[in-house]
Amino acid sequence: MTETDVAIIGGGINGGSTGLELAKNGLNVTIIDKNFICRGASGVNAGTLTMHMTRAQLIPYAKKGWELWMNTSEWLSKEIDVEKKNGLCLAFTEDEEKLLIERSKIRKYYGADISIISIKEAQRIDPNINSSIKCAAFCEMDGYVSANQTGNAYSKALKENKVKILENYDVSKIDYHKNKYVIIFKNGEKLTASSIILATGVNLEKTLKLLQINIKIKCLPQQLIVSERMPKIMDTVITVANGKLSLKQFKNGTVLIGGGWPGIGNIEDNYTETKPENLIGNMMLACHAIPRLKSSRVARVWLGLEAETDDAMPIIGEIPNYENAYVIGSIHSGYTSGPYMGKLLAEKILGKDIDLSLFDIKRFL
Ligand SMILES: Cc1cc2nc3c(=O)[nH]c(=O)nc-3n(C[C@H](O)[C@H](O)[C@H](O)COP(=O)(O)OP(=O)(O)OC[C@H]3O[C@@H](n4cnc5c(N)ncnc54)[C@H](O)[C@@H]3O)c2cc1C
Repeated sequence: MTETDVAIIGGGINGGSTGLELAKNGLNVTIIDKNFICRGASGVNAGTLTMHMTRAQLIPYAKKGWELWMNTSEWLSKEIDVEKKNGLCLAFTEDEEKLLIERSKIRKYYGADISIISIKEAQRIDPNINSSIKCAAFCEMDGYVSANQTGNAYSKALKENKVKILENYDVSKIDYHKNKYVIIFKNGEKLTASSIILATGVNLEKTLKLLQINIKIKCLPQQLIVSERMPKIMDTVITVANGKLSLKQFKNGTVLIGGGWPGIGNIEDNYTETKPENLIGNMMLACHAIPRLKSSRVARVWLGLEAETDDAMPIIGEIPNYENAYVIGSIHSGYTSGPYMGKLLAEKILGKDIDLSLFDIKRFL
């Protein structure tokens, strides 16, 4: 049986970011994943870093996350494509206009630098948007990351910082006695740790049960669509007032269409299946926002499983009734703020005075 100071179960953006920060501060960290580093939601997401879709209360965290993403060469890797773009959120009807003004006002209150602009101004920023919009919300703090590069970037950075990575290790049991955790894997091997962090994404409900903590974590199967390569048809990240679209064009010409149109899926057997009617709805909305997209064909569709608590707010912090046990996950727009949330939890573990009360798991117990 091997030993570690900190065992992090789940090597997604949340586990990875927490582990990286702890290791940089001298702790002996082991990250365990039943698959590979960042191959869950963190490797298949849309990579959009927008304030227009972030829950208002999480804006301060998303802003810090955005800043970290814009600076990856300093703390993560030079080998991950991050693009800063302007963000436009469109309203097509009078009702959407009202919704957009209201939502932008709330997000602004929480710190997002969003302003409502006219059609003319929106078209000056991106001439490719549909000219029938009523108005748009504009935010300079937007952009995207190529999420499929997350795994390589994190693996490399973690290894460089001497984090031990156990891939293909599925945690099936956790024993706790004398302030030590014995983590038991499906293959029968064991690992002893002084501290544990549960960061298992959509599997958090299952993993928390290993510590007799029962809370509901919803599993949201999200669909994404990527087009074939096209000449440049847009230069901003596009979203819409009701939040059902995220759209951007990568440097290689492909256009990524998302926005939370659900597919079918479950965590029991990690099964996903597309819902064609939702793919069509998502594509129609995308073509409505950027009409030139109509001339493109779909290259690929895929799904990922996203975790959500009953109040759609994250759970981050100490696990009650256990010494040195922590949880992190279910963060809305979690790819954007993940690097910062992980850093915050690490700082808390390292003894800094960090207020995580907004995300306390006790609210569900
Ligand atoms: C399709 C899709 C699109 C999205 N688009 C965006 C976006 O554009 N912008 C944005 O900000 N956010 C987006 N998100 C949300 C974002 O991807 C997630 O919030 C974030 O990646 C969650 O990170 P995580 O580390 O909590 O979970 P994950 O990345 O899922 O990592 C959890 C890890 O735990 C491992 N694990 C689970 N159980 C065990 C076990 N028993 N033993 C060992 N390991 C285990 C899994 O293998 C997995 O690697 C999207 C999500 C999806 C699904």
